[in-house]
Amino acid sequence: MDLDFPKFEEKTLKFWQENKIFEKLRKKNQGKERWSFLDGPITANNPMGVHHAWGRTYKDLFQRYKAMQGFDQRYQNGFDCQGLWVEVEVEKEKGFKSKKDIEKFGIEKFVEACKQRVLKYSKIQTEQSIRLGQWMDWENSYYTTSDENNYAIWSFLKKCHKKGYLYKGRDSVPWCPRCSTAISQHEILTEEYKEITHRAVYFKLPIVENKNFKNVSFLVWTTTPWTIPANVALAVSPNFQYGLYRNDKEGLILLKDLADKILDDSFKLEKKLTGKSLVSLRYEGPFDDLERVKKARDEKPKTFHTMIDAKDLVTAEEGTGIVHIATGAGAEDFKLGQEKKLPVIDVIDEEAFYLETMGEFTGKNAKEKPEIILDYLKKHKKARFFYKIEDYTHRYPTCWRCKTELVWRAVDEWYISMEELRKYVIETAKKIKWIPSFGLERELDWLKNMHDWLISKKRYWGLALPIFECGKCGNFEVIASKEELKERAVEGWEEFKGHSPHRPWVDNVKIKCSKCQKLMARIPDVGSPWLDAGIVPFSTMGYYSDRGYWQKWFPADLICESFPGQFRNWFYAMIVMSTVLENTNPIKTIFGHASVRDEKDEEMHKSKGNAIWFDEAVEKIGADPMRWMYSKQNPVLNLKFGWKTAEEIKRKLLTLYNCYSFFETYVSKKELTTYNLQLTTSRNLLDRWIISRLNNLIEKVARNLDRYNVSVATLAIEKFFIDDLSLWYVRRSRKRFHPGHKERKEAIETLYYVLLSLTKIIAPITPFFAEEMYSNLRSEDMPESVHLCDWPKVEKEKIDEDLEEKMVAVRDIVTKVLSERAAAGIRVRQPLNKLRIKDKKLKDEKELLELMKEEVNVKRIVFDSKIRKEIELDSKITDELREEGKYREMVRHVNLMRKEMGLTPKDAIIIDSTTSVANLEDFKKETGAEVFNTKEKDKIEGDMKKEIKVDGEKHYIGIKK
Ligand SMILES: [Zn+2]
Ligand SMILES: [Zn+2]
Repeated sequence: MDLDFPKFEEKTLKFWQENKIFEKLRKKNQGKERWSFLDGPITANNPMGVHHAWGRTYKDLFQRYKAMQGFDQRYQNGFDCQGLWVEVEVEKEKGFKSKKDIEKFGIEKFVEACKQRVLKYSKIQTEQSIRLGQWMDWENSYYTTSDENNYAIWSFLKKCHKKGYLYKGRDSVPWCPRCSTAISQHEILTEEYKEITHRAVYFKLPIVENKNFKNVSFLVWTTTPWTIPANVALAVSPNFQYGLYRNDKEGLILLKDLADKILDDSFKLEKKLTGKSLVSLRYEGPFDDLERVKKARDEKPKTFHTMIDAKDLVTAEEGTGIVHIATGAGAEDFKLGQEKKLPVIDVIDEEAFYLETMGEFTGKNAKEKPEIILDYLKKHKKARFFYKIEDYTHRYPTCWRCKTELVWRAVDEWYISMEELRKYVIETAKKIKWIPSFGLERELDWLKNMHDWLISKKRYWGLALPIFECGKCGNFEVIASKEELKERAVEGWEEFKGHSPHRPWVDNVKIKCSKCQKLMARIPDVGSPWLDAGIVPFSTMGYYSDRGYWQKWFPADLICESFPGQFRNWFYAMIVMSTVLENTNPIKTIFGHASVRDEKDEEMHKSKGNAIWFDEAVEKIGADPMRWMYSKQNPVLNLKFGWKTAEEIKRKLLTLYNCYSFFETYVSKKELTTYNLQLTTSRNLLDRWIISRLNNLIEKVARNLDRYNVSVATLAIEKFFIDDLSLWYVRRSRKRFHPGHKERKEAIETLYYVLLSLTKIIAPITPFFAEEMYSNLRSEDMPESVHLCDWPKVEKEKIDEDLEEKMVAVRDIVTKVLSERAAAGIRVRQPLNKLRIKDKKLKDEKELLELMKEEVNVKRIVFDSKIRKEIELDSKITDELREEGKYREMVRHVNLMRKEMGLTPKDAIIIDSTTSVANLEDFKKETGAEVFNTKEKDKIEGDMKKEIKVDGEKHYIGIKK
């Protein structure tokens, strides 16, 4: 039977909507014990991909499961709306190349366009989530762009300021020249490093002549030649061994171990030198005549162009052992510069154009045209500084939004200091339960090593940082709320009033400096989007508006997100913000999962063409097979999503559906009303066994879902309905469902009970499929939806471990016998005489032995401890057995033909055959035939005719109604 998932899912969605099932569920659990789930906001910037659906399946699954257990919940979904990711998409839409295009277009119009984009995609994502089967209070989703969220962050920042954490710092930071903004350390994830080949240059910096060094240069190496004009110093490791090498033209100093690799044969070692002996030597640079460089020299004449010792920065593995220090273009360089009082030479602007006072370079782009520096060194009169160029391939960081190679710039940015906070933040992280547990180590690793939190961005669409800075006295102040802003405003309030707290409207407001009384303007920066998401355990739960409500729902019991990336981002932001505000953990448990990849285990990318959008997948596969695939997956491992996998999953779910449709075929709804459907009392062995297995399953699934072990729970259910229910229980019970069987009633009651319970157990995982089966199984007195049912209770007294163990032994023997039969080429329908079993533990289990006899098709089972193997199958086929085997084969074929002709067991038939059967009366009874004729092959009559083969012999059968 085929199962059209998308079709009945649409039907189920309608049923839920028309009958307000979700509303009824919420009402049912209202006021009961609370379970607080906090939704991590999804970026409302594009339609959903299949990777979003993985996380959202978990979120829905946990909430549905908790609802069946009677917990009251908030069901609030969240959208992440502000930040560079939205800006970049709007820029693409409008064909903008840089920030200048945005300013030309107008900030107000641009910000409006960002708002519209977010609205558009939050609507689309809502529709898609509903299609996935996700139950949320969609009318009440939170948006990080809301006034509530933005002002909550203002208040948080004020608190940071009061505690002295907030500061403006100058630092050399990673910078995207396309987006024209700093990229914080958090945002440079491993996956943003790309394999890039740069043209690395070896260049010479002549030592200012003295009595020891005449016509000698330091040999230096860099992979970023555009930074050479920013060079202010060189560094060596004092303990390394260096060498002075000379040919007939000049002398060069570099690390002794690297000399062979770099220098040509004309150079000979003149003398060995320690790194220490080189410290303080002065040198000349190729750009010393640029005005900007001269200015730096004049600022710090003592340290400018000197050799310093910095053993941590120098490696013996690559380069020359002499490190080029550009304080304006590298984070470590900048730090070292502060320590050693080195000058800073800024060389590029926001878009990586060389600044003014840089001679012929001014106005040229350092990243787009890196060759200008190389050409200058090679061709100009500066050739004495040039040694050689080599291609160098390395992993280099790129912008997480636009993939442009990053540069480093020394700029003023705003930070939250981690110095004092760090130890408290670490304590907070430790209070959270991390699943999988390596999450905590990863988070701690980050928290221990991270720098201060860079929170500013020189952009447009985002949190307006509520920092006002005095241009006269340098004082800065932080505004905590809209009310405070109104109170302090001396200018621009009218222009701002009625708008959201965003640029450009809020930029109009000026306040008075409380130190010097001059007018202060807001700094133009916007905030890091991680502030937006980090505040949600407070903002969305009413921390600032309804403290009583907040106390009820905080801390959240669970958040559930894809791990990669979030340690430095959402998790980090929440932990820091919660530590500052309440010094406690905002969540009790963090459940994380890996990423979705394609079938070949490759990362999905729009540009690679292997990304799969949610809409395409759900139309092709249906939501439930996707949900089953996600739920089965070990969350620690990446999920390989593909159509083939989906087909396999569908086949598995079909096994369960076939058990259900078997039941439907044999039992009419009307007949059902005559049975006791709420409990099972059957004493039949197979019935008792499957009920015992079922109760074990219910217990196991609940235990694992309580611990968020979704894959263990899902696999247990799958194993149950394939191995236990389909392959054993239904197969071995089939006969009992035939009309007139003496144990038919018990079989029906039992299978009904199992199927009904299963619909409840799978309801959180595959809500549509469960509803589809439930709606056909339910009787009038049951809830109208499976999702309004309680989680099934475990009936401990029905668990029979002893029976389960024995059944395992039976099935074990069966497997062995069947494989012996297969090895001997004897089909299962051919009866055999005897099976000997060595182990006697099943000797007295009459019922089980009957079961086994039927399954392996033997006349007798004997126990014999003297045999050598575990079992011994008597494979001799007597004439009598052969005849019986033929008989069984005929019965099977007649039944198959009957089915193919669309006849029911009640339709009488006439059979024509070339073969006689030994036991004619039995045969007629078993096939429901009224007449049985033996004829020659050519005379066979029938609406359907068939040739069958038994033991190499051909037989012909015809059937007529
Ligand atoms: Zn960028
Ligand atoms: Zn002032």
